[in-house]
Amino acid sequence: MIDYKLHIPGPVNVSPEAYQAMTSPVMGHRSSDFVDLYNQCQPLLQTLFQTSDPVFISTSSAWGAMEGAVRNLTHSKTLCCTCGAFSDKWLDVALRCGKNADALQADWGSHIDPMILDSRLATGEYDLVTLVHNETSCGMMNPLEEIMQVLKKYPNVISVIDTVSSFSAVPIPKDEWGIDVLLTGSQKALALPPGLALLSVSERAFERAEKIEGRGYYFDFLEFRKNHEKGMTPSTPVIPLIHGLLHTLQSIFEEGVENRHTRHAELNSQVHRWIEQKGFELLPEKKFASKTLSCVRNNLELDVAGFVKALREEKKISIDGGYGKIKGKTFRISNMGNETVDSIGHLLNQMDEILPRFLPAG
Ligand SMILES: *Cc1c(COP(=O)(O)O)cnc(C)c1O
Repeated sequence: MIDYKLHIPGPVNVSPEAYQAMTSPVMGHRSSDFVDLYNQCQPLLQTLFQTSDPVFISTSSAWGAMEGAVRNLTHSKTLCCTCGAFSDKWLDVALRCGKNADALQADWGSHIDPMILDSRLATGEYDLVTLVHNETSCGMMNPLEEIMQVLKKYPNVISVIDTVSSFSAVPIPKDEWGIDVLLTGSQKALALPPGLALLSVSERAFERAEKIEGRGYYFDFLEFRKNHEKGMTPSTPVIPLIHGLLHTLQSIFEEGVENRHTRHAELNSQVHRWIEQKGFELLPEKKFASKTLSCVRNNLELDVAGFVKALREEKKISIDGGYGKIKGKTFRISNMGNETVDSIGHLLNQMDEILPRFLPAG
């Protein structure tokens, strides 16, 4: 039995109410009961995505939709904006799918520079861009609005934006900014268990997909659209999670979307104040720091592994000791999902109590 609270940047804590909603009995996925459930979710999803495009529910983790986007939409060549573990991996995934793809590479923790993107797209080589909005591995949030302004200059370039760890926590107006494919997963900013990906696809992107061969079946955007029109998914979906999704969407609108954004910003500042007080630094430039998690640079020679372990064992709280090649050089604290001033305050107090033991003496 898990007896600790999650403050890792995904999966995050799921509320008892969301778990409760998932105990609703399953029904046939071609039944009118399922269609009702799907059709209850849809307008709420469209409102939250700020789009009039359909929002598909995929039974997969986010990677399914990320791989699917590349398979559905790469015609000539994809430009993958890489600046951390997830965005690096997306390039690898595109290549593994046999697509032509290049990197627009920034260092881990740095943002994607809209001007550099502009000059790469001006070559005319690319017809698809992949971008991770919030690079969870580095706690860095890309300047999405500015990036989308650049993309507006290139009507033949389709954009796919991963908002797995930022969706619903900060404003991302899909249609207004001209995002073609906006995708997210269930277990991070939405605070549901893992297993669902959500993706909204523009008309332009469907037109592209129609011309692409080898889209496969499971993530075929046109297959999703055909079923969506009937209030269904292409294959049997993870129905309990969709009950959980409906509950979560309703609770987001009960809180108020703007209030949710404000709450995330405030909790994030609360963590940032702690980081500064202790003498730590953030990995990214402050201006590009994520609002949903903090990636702390280990400038104080903290024994990160020891600290993380003691926090879990003694204080029953789990934070992350750094991702991939920056393990130990950084650690990450999540404030996404259902956290409150009190729950973050508790986390910071508990960290305070054990921190000195893991800092170098003197
Ligand atoms: C976690 C994460 C993913 C991958 O999600 P899965 O659910 O493991 O497929 C992709 N992108 C970002 C930014 C993430 O944080």
